[in-house]
Amino acid sequence: MRSFLAGLADLVFPPRCASCSGKLEDGAHFSLCEGCRSGIGIIHSPLCTVCGEPFASDAEKDHPCGSCLVGPPPFATARSLGRYDGVLMTMIHRLKYREQSRLAEPLGRLLAAGDYPGLRIGEASLVIPVPLHPRRLRQRGFNQSLLLAKAVGKSHGIPVDARSLRKPVASDPQVSLGRRQRERNVRGVFVVADAERIKGKGILLVDDVYTTGSTLKECARVLLRAGAREVSVLTLARSVENLHPPGEKEETGGRET
Ligand SMILES: [Zn+2]
Ligand SMILES: [Zn+2]
Repeated sequence: MRSFLAGLADLVFPPRCASCSGKLEDGAHFSLCEGCRSGIGIIHSPLCTVCGEPFASDAEKDHPCGSCLVGPPPFATARSLGRYDGVLMTMIHRLKYREQSRLAEPLGRLLAAGDYPGLRIGEASLVIPVPLHPRRLRQRGFNQSLLLAKAVGKSHGIPVDARSLRKPVASDPQVSLGRRQRERNVRGVFVVADAERIKGKGILLVDDVYTTGSTLKECARVLLRAGAREVSVLTLARSVENLHPPGEKEETGGRET
């Protein structure tokens, strides 16, 4: 009965691409048309084995980048599905700033199905989303990182914990800040509410965008301090803007995340 109804719905409302609303080819997997999917700049090797930053030259092999050698981040590994531009950036903007929460489903499935050299999602015992400040959560109505985390957890059979890591202190919008200012801005804004759930766990921290990594590093630090065994990071997109000097503005709309 359900499939009959679903078939009927498909006849009346043919499935559309979640990004461009174009008609989907039959049997499409990701609610994204071929054109939009190929517009995602998937990140692949060669990249930094630690922070996941892709290298410019294809001739290099995966290795720790200069900044990870100089100052190793608290997380063990960070990986992202694609570059923060084009289709992926447009979809993330619509998800976050136009509150189109239905986009979380196709994006979450893409994130969960991605191939991440050097990161085995299945080895995590807990998936934790980067939390929003309660005021921001009320404004948006949902935490985009939680929706993405749920997709990853469901697909890999890993429990999602949206309560242990919290953000009781509001931070300024990171957008117009340089790297150093970003680090200061997020210092002390996250807390672990339930250290018992964290203790000894291998945690996969999920967020939408990795920009300078300040937020993710701070979350990782707080989780490790609370007793987590290891923290890895998975984000949908990775900003290429962090190659720019600190202080340079990013085109993310000037809003708090
Ligand atoms: Zn499309
Ligand atoms: Zn690195």
